[in-house]
Amino acid sequence: MLNANDSFRHIGLRNRLVKEVEKKGITSKSVLEAIGRVPRHLFMDPSFVHLAYKDKAFPIGQGQTISQPYTVAFQSSLLEVTPGCKVLEIGTGSGYQAAVLAEMGVEVYSVERQRKLYEKTQTLLRKTGYKEIRLFLGDGNLGLPDEAPFDRIIVTAGAESVPAGLLVQLAVGGIMVLPVGVKSQTMIRIKRLSEDDFEQEKFGDFAFVPLLKGIVK
Ligand code: SAH
Repeated sequence: MLNANDSFRHIGLRNRLVKEVEKKGITSKSVLEAIGRVPRHLFMDPSFVHLAYKDKAFPIGQGQTISQPYTVAFQSSLLEVTPGCKVLEIGTGSGYQAAVLAEMGVEVYSVERQRKLYEKTQTLLRKTGYKEIRLFLGDGNLGLPDEAPFDRIIVTAGAESVPAGLLVQLAVGGIMVLPVGVKSQTMIRIKRLSEDDFEQEKFGDFAFVPLLKGIVK
C-alpha cells in the first residue's frame, strides 16, 4: 500500500529489510512481498523512525513492543494463509502484524486488551489505508465468539498455555500459531484435523511480551 507518508528512501530501506529476513530463512514469496509493502516506520513512534527498518523489536508505549520483522514473517509463514481466509490475531499492538496479513489478502480480526493502544492503532490503520482490518478491544484469551470460526488464529503475545477459548474458535482444517511459555516461548503450530483431533508442531524459541488477562481501560 503506497502511502503519502512513505518515500523512495523508505522503500529502499524496506527492500533491504526484505533481503535480510529472506537471508534468515523466510522463503514464502507472499510474506516477503507483504513485508516489502507495509510502511513499518508509520507504525512506530516518530522518535524511532530511523530504526524502523532494522530487524528488531521496539517499544510502542504502554510497555508493549512492535514485533521484530523476522518474527512477524516467521509467524505469518507458519500460518500458511490463502487469500480470503478469515484470520484472528490476538495482540494488535502497533497493528504492524495485522497490516502484513492484510497485505496477504486475508480478512483480519484483531483483539487488543489495552484501550490506549487499541484507539491509537485504530486511528493509524484508518490513516494508512488499512481500513478493512477489524479491531476489537477485549481479552484475547476469549477470542471473538461472535465472529468464530476462524480459518487461522495467530497469537502475538506469550501464552502460559494454549487458551482453550481459542481452540474451539478454530475452524476444522484451520491453523493456529502461538508462542507458548513463561520466560521464553516455543513457537507452536496447531492444526485442527477434525472436531476432536488437533496436531501440534514446535518451531524454536522466541521472546514475546506476556499474554495477560482482562482489559485495561
Ligand atoms: N502484533 C503486535 C505485537 C504487539 S506485542 C504488533 O505487530 O505490533 C503484544 C500485544 O498483545 C500488546 O499490545 C499487548 O497489550 C497485547 N496483549 C497481551 N495480552 C493480551 C490479551 N489477553 N488480549 C489481547 N491483547 C493482549
